Amino acid sequence: MKAILGDITTLSVDAIVNAANSSLLGGGGVDGAIHRAAGPDLVHECRLLHGCKTGEAKITGGYRLRAKFVIHTVGPVWNGGHKREAELLASCYRRSLELAVEHSLESIAFPAISTGIYGYPVAEAASIAVSTVGDFLKVRPLEVIFCCFSGKDLAVYQAELAKE
Ligand code: ADP
Repeated sequence: MKAILGDITTLSVDAIVNAANSSLLGGGGVDGAIHRAAGPDLVHECRLLHGCKTGEAKITGGYRLRAKFVIHTVGPVWNGGHKREAELLASCYRRSLELAVEHSLESIAFPAISTGIYGYPVAEAASIAVSTVGDFLKVRPLEVIFCCFSGKDLAVYQAELAKE
C-alpha cells in the first residue's frame, strides 16, 4: 500500500472507491468529480442499486473513467466519535476490499473517505484506513493506493504508513 497526491478520477487502476452518499445518486466532493468524469451512464447504473447503507459498499462499471470499476461506499458522518464512526469507517474499507477480491481485481485506489463534507478528522480517519487495509492485506494481497487530494493529507497518510 502507498499514498499518492492526485485526482482519483485519473487513475488507471482496476477500481476506484467513491465516498458516496446513501442515495448513490451523486453529490459533491469526490463523488461529484467521479460522476462528472465517468459520464451519465454511471448514475443510470447507480439508480438500479437502490442506495447503500453506511459502512457498506456496492460496485458498478467505470464507464468513461480509466478505472474499470467504481466501488461506492458510504462513510459515516462525523458526530463527535461516539456514534460508531470508527467501526463504520473501518467497515467501508473492508467491504470495498472484499468486493475487489470477489471481482478478482488486483488494484484499488481509495480517497480519504468521510474526511471532506462528512467531517471525519483526517488523522483518525487515516489511522483507521491504514490499519484496516494493512490487516486485510495480510490475508489477501492487492495493490492499494490511498489517493490524497492535498499535501497535508498526504503527509498524514505517510506518517500512518510509516507505522505499519
Ligand atoms: P465525504 O462526504 O465522505 O466526506 P468528500 O468527497 O467530501 O467525501 O471528501 C472525501 C475526501 O476526498 C476529501 O479528502 C476530499 O478532499 C477528497 N477529494 C475530493 N475530490 C477528490 C478527487 N478528485 N480525488 C481524490 N480525492 C478527492
